[in-house]
Amino acid sequence: MNTAKKRWIQLVAILLCFSMLTVGQNFTMTAQAADEDAANAQLEELNNKYDELEAQLQAIQAEIDKAKTEKDKQLAIKKQIDNQISLTRQQISVLESRIALLNETIATQEELMAEKQKAIDANYEIFKKRMRASYMAGDTTMLGLLLGADSFSEFLTRAEITTRIAKHDQQLIDELNQEIAEVEEAKAQVDADKAQVEAAKADMAAKQTTLNGQLQDVESQIQDLAALEADIQANKAKIDKEMAQVQSEIDKIYASLDSEGEYTGGAMLWPVPGYPNVTSDFGWRFNGTDYHTGIDISGASVHGKPIVAAASGTVIHTQLTYTPGKGYGKYIIIDHGGGISTLYGHTSEILVSVGQKVNRGDTIALVGTTGWSTGPHLHFEVRVDGKYVNPWGYLSR
Ligand SMILES: [Zn+2]
Repeated sequence: MNTAKKRWIQLVAILLCFSMLTVGQNFTMTAQAADEDAANAQLEELNNKYDELEAQLQAIQAEIDKAKTEKDKQLAIKKQIDNQISLTRQQISVLESRIALLNETIATQEELMAEKQKAIDANYEIFKKRMRASYMAGDTTMLGLLLGADSFSEFLTRAEITTRIAKHDQQLIDELNQEIAEVEEAKAQVDADKAQVEAAKADMAAKQTTLNGQLQDVESQIQDLAALEADIQANKAKIDKEMAQVQSEIDKIYASLDSEGEYTGGAMLWPVPGYPNVTSDFGWRFNGTDYHTGIDISGASVHGKPIVAAASGTVIHTQLTYTPGKGYGKYIIIDHGGGISTLYGHTSEILVSVGQKVNRGDTIALVGTTGWSTGPHLHFEVRVDGKYVNPWGYLSR
């Protein structure tokens, strides 16, 4: 083999090696792009799932609000029943006092009656003696009447005899009559009091039944409220867990997406020029029921106004499809290098596409009210390695 031929073979070999190297490189780059596409598709899917869960959480929140209203209503009813119970207890207590008082009156009256009866008996003895004396004196009529009567009262009612009774006996009979009338009166009073006691006791039994019913109502209401609260807690805990799970999957995807180079953007540019008002700040809001992952920027006639890139970078995600009333609506994520990205939510129009390089201040979208939004505004987030952070550490107004 001559030298020239050897050289030619060497050259071909080198060229062949070089071209193979190039093919290999191209193959590696294609594989990387495919990986990134798959990751993006997965991210989009997860973002959709997250939006869906967020919507579910909103629905749960609405249910909680409704349940709270229902709970407030139930608590108001319970308070009313508690008031009724208190009043019924007071009524029962009054009835008990009345019964005790009546029983005291009855006892006093009965004592009085017993005393009167003693007096009557004593006077009757005196009267009988006088009658006997009268008989001894020869007047048989009186004794006959006396013995013929079943009782002293009966004897006294025999009106015709009064004329036959001696004047000095009349006073004694009057006294006896008076005493008997008093005893009758006392007995009538005692009977009336006893009837009142019986009525009060019947009242009390009815009140006790009412009270037991009221106590049962309150008890079942307390159980209903406890069940309601347990339901809400279980539901909320379930959704919270799902949200956390999706968030962590999003975190993983973000981590797998290469953030190019270091962050050199410095302080970020205000994303809605001419609109410095923040209508909802970063952090807990709605009485600690919702954690706001960004800031809302709004103002008069803000709808359709330009949204600019807060720093230079590459568009890594554009969400073009959305469900009205759910999630961030149409939104964009821009990677700024060093793991730092920004998110622009609820836009009316997206003016960039995935993979596009943008410069700080370039218009990327227009302000809108897509997704879960109550009015035109920009929801702006800063994320570090996919995790939202307080944007005030990067922004300047
Ligand atoms: Zn927001």
